[in-house]
Parts: sequence; structure tokens; C-alpha cells
Amino acid sequence: MNDSVIYLDYHATAPPDRRVVEAMAPFLGEGFGNPHAVSHAVGWAAKEAVEAARRKVAMLASADPDEIVFTSGATEANNLAILGLLASPENAGPKHAGAYVITAATEHPSVLACMAALEESGTAVTVLPVGADGLIDPDNLRRALQPETKLVSIMAANNEIGVLQPITEIGAICREAGALFHCDAAQAFGKVAIDLAAVDLLSVTSHKLHGPMGVGALYVRRGVRLRPLIYGGRQERGLRSGTLPTPLCVGFGEACRIAAAERAAEAGRLARLRDRLLDGLRRIAPDLRVNGSLQRRLPGNLNVALPGVDAEALLLELPGLALSTGSACATGQSGPSHVLRAIGLPDELAHGSLRFGLGRFTSEAEIERALAMIADALARIGPAQAV
Ligand SMILES: *Cc1c(COP(=O)(O)O)cnc(C)c1O
Repeated sequence: MNDSVIYLDYHATAPPDRRVVEAMAPFLGEGFGNPHAVSHAVGWAAKEAVEAARRKVAMLASADPDEIVFTSGATEANNLAILGLLASPENAGPKHAGAYVITAATEHPSVLACMAALEESGTAVTVLPVGADGLIDPDNLRRALQPETKLVSIMAANNEIGVLQPITEIGAICREAGALFHCDAAQAFGKVAIDLAAVDLLSVTSHKLHGPMGVGALYVRRGVRLRPLIYGGRQERGLRSGTLPTPLCVGFGEACRIAAAERAAEAGRLARLRDRLLDGLRRIAPDLRVNGSLQRRLPGNLNVALPGVDAEALLLELPGLALSTGSACATGQSGPSHVLRAIGLPDELAHGSLRFGLGRFTSEAEIERALAMIADALARIGPAQAV
């Protein structure tokens, strides 16, 4: 990694843990076997490694290993959960009545784009608003649910503002109404506890958890029937064909093992670092606003609006920081993010918003240095807000 840059973009991706890389290495070499080639020892060794990894993912999720379907990441897991469920034979028939599917305005693009595709093909989709705190109102969900509602898709932790939706309560409401509950837990998995009992489908990804990119999983509660999106050799119980990437699965498994062992201590440390960052930023910019609920939030997330500041111009003055603005919502798109819009942030404040993502390798010294760099940069570009 580039040691001269302070990495504060853990929501985009988390640097691979050294232990993960070491666990993967043998499977990029002599452990090259196809885990589905079960007629010889080379295949068996790979299969064993993949199944050990599946057990580690399942353990962190509190699931059974046979409820874990490996995918290429959370984007694919979200697509499989949403499109696969609605395409299942049980869900044949008209989908235009009632709120057939319910989601929230602040979901990840990989969920919202599935919803748009469903709508285009005539499925009734209801999008719940969120409050200024970034959270849905459970009463709104109760009111939106219809007898026809098949699926509710609401994320565990938001990737921009880090807020934690009330998963247990949402799950209970869905179950009472007879709807299935899919939860995109790409940011929450391994960072905060997730009440799996509340959920029917859970999307997770390795690279947000210090594992390799290109692998993730969908937890599918036993009895929930999906139609695959990818057909072929019927790997992953026919739900996701294609040869599993042994090294990636092994790395993901190791990342889950480490998270299970270290999550609690890491969360406490990150929350303290985050609070130190917020204190420091408030000293530099007293009129700063925290975007979304500060209390119900991932320990490593901070998203703030600096009134009167152009966040993009500020980042240009901060080449030593790897940091995101709050305004770029997806690759190549400009304009305020749909998340900041959804919490009611005026465009000027959205353009002055920064997303800090802290993680396993963030040190107190880095936070102090980042604060000094931000104070300097604001003094260079800023009008009055730099003190
Ligand atoms: C990163 C992310 C995704 C996409 O995950 P990939 O594994 O990169 O496809 C989906 N949802 C959320 C909330 C994310 O943060």
C-alpha cells in the first residue's frame, strides 16, 4: 500500500488483512485444483478448502453452511436475492397489484437498479422514505405492506452515512405480514451484530471485510426458493453455476474468522477514533453537521457536511488523504448522492459533505495527521469556516 497516503475510505473497500493474503497464497499455486472435480485428490483438497471457508462465513453470519451461496460479491447477491426470488415459480403471476416489493430510498445502487428493472417489467415497487436520521419509520413499513407484498429489501448499514436500520423490528413486521425480508449487509457484516433470525436473505461481501475482491455470499434461509440468474454446471445447489474461485473463497473465510475473533474489540477502538475525529473536525469547522443519526451508526463511519465548503475542491487540496465526498453517488455520476437527498440535505450542504471510513489499520496518529491536513486545506481554500 502507499504509505504516504492516509486511507480513510474503508466503505469503498477495506485493505486485505495480511493473514488473509497468507491464507490465499497456497491456492494461487500448488492448491490450484477445481473444487468441483471430485474424482481425484487435487480436486478434493480444493473442495475441502472451499467448504472450510463456507463454514467460517456461516459461523460469522450465525447460519448453517448449506444456507450460504457463494457469489462474486454483494452486487450479485442482491441481484440473486431480489430478481431470483421474484422469478421463482411460486411468484409466477401478476406482480402489479399492491406493493409487491418494498424497499427504501437510501439503498445501494445494486438494489435500487434491480427495483427499477422490476418496475419496468410491471412489478409494483414501493420505495419508503427515510427521516433526517437516515432511518426508515417502522410504522411506514407497516402501512406500506399489502397482502400481496412478497419481498421487503432494506439494508443493514448504509454505505454512505453508516446508519443502522432496525433490522430486528423490520424482520418481525415482515414475518407478521407474510413477506420475505432481504437485507443488504455488505457494510454491516463483521462490523456490528446482525440478527439473522430476523432475515430470510442476507447479502454480504468479502472486500469490505479485509478479504479479497470478487467474492461474496447470499445467505438463503432454508425453505426460501429462488430461481438462479446464472445457469450451468449447477454448482452452489444449482443457484449459482460456475467454478468457485478457491483462493477467493479461502480469503473470504479467513476474513470472516478474523472478524469473528476481533470484531468486538475493533468496534470499540473505531468508535473512539471516530469520536476523536468528530471532535477535531468540530474544532476546525464549528458549524459542521453530522449527516444521519450519530448514535445508530457503524463505529467506523462519519459523514459530515461543512457549510460553505466545496468538498471536491477540498479533496483536491488533500492529496495525502484517501477520502470520499458525500456527493458522488456512483462511478461517473455527479450531483448530490441519492442518500443525502433522501435525508433532506439541501444541495449546498450535500456538495460540502465528506465521508470518512475508518477501519482496522486506522491509527490515532493518522487521525491527528488527517485533522491537521484538513485544517490546512480549509485555510487555503476556505472563507471564514477555517479557524
Ligand atoms: C459495496 C456494497 C455493495 C456492493 O458490493 P460488491 O461486493 O462490491 O459488489 C452493495 N451494497 C452495499 C451497501 C455496499 O456497501
